[in-house]
Amino acid sequence: MSERKVLTKYYPPDFDPSALGRQRKPKQAGPRVITVRLMAPFSMRCLTCGEYLPKGRKFNARKETNQEEKYLGIQIFRFYIRCTRCSAEITFKTDPRVNDYVCERGAKRNTEPWRPLKEETDEERLDRLEKEEEERNAMEELEAKTVDAKREMAVADMLDEIRTSNARRDRTGGGDMAPDAPPRGRGGRKAGTRGFGSR
Ligand SMILES: [Zn+2]
Repeated sequence: MSERKVLTKYYPPDFDPSALGRQRKPKQAGPRVITVRLMAPFSMRCLTCGEYLPKGRKFNARKETNQEEKYLGIQIFRFYIRCTRCSAEITFKTDPRVNDYVCERGAKRNTEPWRPLKEETDEERLDRLEKEEEERNAMEELEAKTVDAKREMAVADMLDEIRTSNARRDRTGGGDMAPDAPPRGRGGRKAGTRGFGSR
């Protein structure tokens, strides 16, 4: 068992890695297909046997990436699953235009009352986007206003502080200022005499 996992491999002394080269396979044509595990994105009913496939059921699906199938540059993916009862093939694909999926073949999507029945036209879509944009602008304006108000209040507070400190200095420390030199001199003299007297 110890040789089951070989960490070192023997390379003969005459091994020449440059002679290996790189193998080029012909590029596969057509859409790229890989197998994925997915959940059904919507509940549907098989058209062949009438079996209901609930949303969220897991499938081993084939995912097809067709480079030519895009919506405004957004890749559209197609999925192939099989009915759990009759194994008939069901396909659906992503629909970036409405942020949803479209059932294509083999099944019918069940009615979902929470989904809007009527698809909005391009014009309605534009109107909606414009309205949303306006709302966002209004919000931005409001935010800017709040910031401005905050700044104004901070400035007013600071001015207030400066004013009060100025007033305090005028009342108390004003005597130390140059124009009021005589009082300080007097005070100094007083202190001096008292000092001498006590000694
Ligand atoms: Zn079926």
